[in-house]
Amino acid sequence: MTYFIIGSGIWGSVMAERIASVLRVPVVVVERRNHVGGNCHASRDAATGIECHRYGSHIFHTKIREVWDYLTKFTRFNSYRHKVLIRHAGRTYVMPINLATINALYQKNFTPEEAQNLLQEESNRAFPAEARPQNLEEKAVSQIGRPLYEAFIRDYTAKQWGRAPVDLPASIINRLPIRTSYNFDYFDDPWQGIPWDGYAALFARLLDNTLITVRLNTSYEAIKTEIPSDATVIYTGQADALFDCVHGELEWRSLRFEWETVNQRDYQGTSVMNYADADVAYTRIHEFKHYHPERTEIFESGHTVICREYPSAWTSGGEAYYPLNDARNTALYERYAAMAQEAGIILGGRLGAYRYWDMDKAVADALRVFETRIAG
Ligand SMILES: Cc1cc2nc3c(=O)[nH]c(=O)nc-3n(C[C@H](O)[C@H](O)[C@H](O)COP(=O)(O)OP(=O)(O)OC[C@H]3O[C@@H](n4cnc5c(N)ncnc54)[C@H](O)[C@@H]3O)c2cc1C
Repeated sequence: MTYFIIGSGIWGSVMAERIASVLRVPVVVVERRNHVGGNCHASRDAATGIECHRYGSHIFHTKIREVWDYLTKFTRFNSYRHKVLIRHAGRTYVMPINLATINALYQKNFTPEEAQNLLQEESNRAFPAEARPQNLEEKAVSQIGRPLYEAFIRDYTAKQWGRAPVDLPASIINRLPIRTSYNFDYFDDPWQGIPWDGYAALFARLLDNTLITVRLNTSYEAIKTEIPSDATVIYTGQADALFDCVHGELEWRSLRFEWETVNQRDYQGTSVMNYADADVAYTRIHEFKHYHPERTEIFESGHTVICREYPSAWTSGGEAYYPLNDARNTALYERYAAMAQEAGIILGGRLGAYRYWDMDKAVADALRVFETRIAG
């Protein structure tokens, strides 16, 4: 029995590693890009040596011990802990909203308890307690009130999704992350970091098995007729594309990245600066050298690589980044998932599942599918 895994992102690479190491059978990994790693891919900038995350910043973080124990067999992580700042009306604040953000916006020195009371008063004023929020804006103001919402959430969200928050479903957000302490960490997961010797090395080790063959620059569509009938196909591409979108296309939001090398030691003093306001078209600027302060020579050099991230409309065939999990798309996805099941194809990964997953959730899901559907 041979396994064909379509896509070499973290989900497909973990699955390939498990099948080859545990079941000891051949695996062919088919990847249409010219590199493995999917959207976690990073490579060194030739001129500066700075490791750049080619599809936007990727910070590993998890609460799932099994995922941490698994990945640390293939890489060590550095001690980077993610912090995010946000620019609004010419000033810089901390994200997610914490006591420093609240105090800076209100120009006060609230204690944690006073900040809690303020948030309660603001949300009572903005939205009736007994009503049910009908859209993203109502849900956000019911949690944090209008001033914080208008400063940090409204325009940023509109840029990200290309629609006003009143036209977005309330279900896009659960609880807005908000802290009434001076905790500056973006994630509260116990295990965090960036692979010590980079994402490319992590993927090389995951796929380093004589039973694994990787075919780059090769799409599933180009080789599907070559796949033997007794092989198992595990597909981590877009579920609708697998069936030529016969019932219509699933919708996504896309991104565009604009790169620049700046002859400065440090451009913005941090790895990610968000831009909250509508008059700036991008949502954030990444500065990659900050992910590896331990690479001192590169870190101290007089050059830095930055990248502006612009949300953009998704068009057929473009890069699919964020699924639009509304009622129409969810129902459509279920139809394709049923077709895959009928065809005996296992759907995996964020594209195949039509979900947004952080890396740890993708790894956890691959380990689960391996145990329950492949090894089991
Ligand atoms: C901007 C951005 C920032 C992110 N930042 C973080 C972060 O900081 N921390 C975090 O934990 N997560 C982050 N994520 C999420 C992370 O990218 C995903 O968890 C991860 O990429 C999921 O891996 P995957 O294997 O499911 O999919 P992907 O990485 O998308 O891999 C799928 C692969 O399949 C290939 N493929 C698709 N169709 C075909 C086909 N027909 N034939 C051949 N190959 C095909 C693709 O080329 C791709 O290489 C971020 C996501 C985005 C969009």
